[in-house]
Amino acid sequence: MLLFRNPPGVLARVLVAILAFAACKREKKSPSKPAPTTAVPQSIPLDIWTEFSGQRALDHVRTQVEFGPRPAGSPELARAREKIAATLQACGWNTDAQEFTAQTPNGPVQMVNIIGRFPLERGNKAGASTQKVIVASHYDTKLFRTIAFVGANDGASSTGALLELARVLALDPGLAAKIELVFFDGEEALQQFTETDGLYGSRYYATQLRETGRAAQFKCGIVWDMIGDKDLTITLPQDSPRELTIAMLASADKLQCKNAFRIFERPMLDDHVPLNQIARIPSLDVIDFEYPPWHTADDTLDKLSATSLQTIGSVTLHYLKQNF
Ligand SMILES: [Zn+2]
Repeated sequence: MLLFRNPPGVLARVLVAILAFAACKREKKSPSKPAPTTAVPQSIPLDIWTEFSGQRALDHVRTQVEFGPRPAGSPELARAREKIAATLQACGWNTDAQEFTAQTPNGPVQMVNIIGRFPLERGNKAGASTQKVIVASHYDTKLFRTIAFVGANDGASSTGALLELARVLALDPGLAAKIELVFFDGEEALQQFTETDGLYGSRYYATQLRETGRAAQFKCGIVWDMIGDKDLTITLPQDSPRELTIAMLASADKLQCKNAFRIFERPMLDDHVPLNQIARIPSLDVIDFEYPPWHTADDTLDKLSATSLQTIGSVTLHYLKQNF
């Protein structure tokens, strides 16, 4: 992930004003799980966003971190990938491994995006035409030769939360079938972010969407990245798609956690960019870029909290349930 250096635009100012107004109305509060409802087992939960468990998400994050540094092409990343696919399958998702060879400054590297799709009917194979929203995370960690970089927040936090999202969505098969879960390989630059180094997985995936015509079926994309910091402040990029941003902030407002979000003063270069620019799908980068241990050996599990993961999981689920 990298910052652009453009000046703030009109959208940013509008959104800052909206946020400031909303912040006046709400005191700081995390979404809390209400008392159990009378829903009978196996029925679809009405308030599905309350089913998301930050603690379960954090357990998945820990599992990813325990694989060690996971740069693209490494055996550690292959093991992390197997775990992701197995976890998805265990809660009813079909998985596709989208393999490709990336040309990097370090030579060709084999990379694999994992795509999860949910079958409309139990036991059937999931089709590829029911999905309307992409929810994505990268699961690789940045390559460092001098430090052991395990990417607890940068790589693992969003990956673990996405696995918990998969479990919760499976409780509502009709909703789950509208969602495409994507775990991108190669988000990190092998050397330094340029047009051709970094975002390998999302560039490949977005190009495939465009070339197969599948891009047209998607209404929007949501990319999670670095969402586990104990001190959570989501810094939405200045050039975020307007309608999607407003709808997501409305969900945050409903769950009384809008002050965990603000508009950043600049755009960012992250996996949402290929979705926006190559596939032309309005996509939002839900990222907390105010994270001092970013790209250091200190990006470890002790910096994260289950509450932060729960905030993002709940807000996203609320948005999905209300809009799809
Ligand atoms: Zn990174």
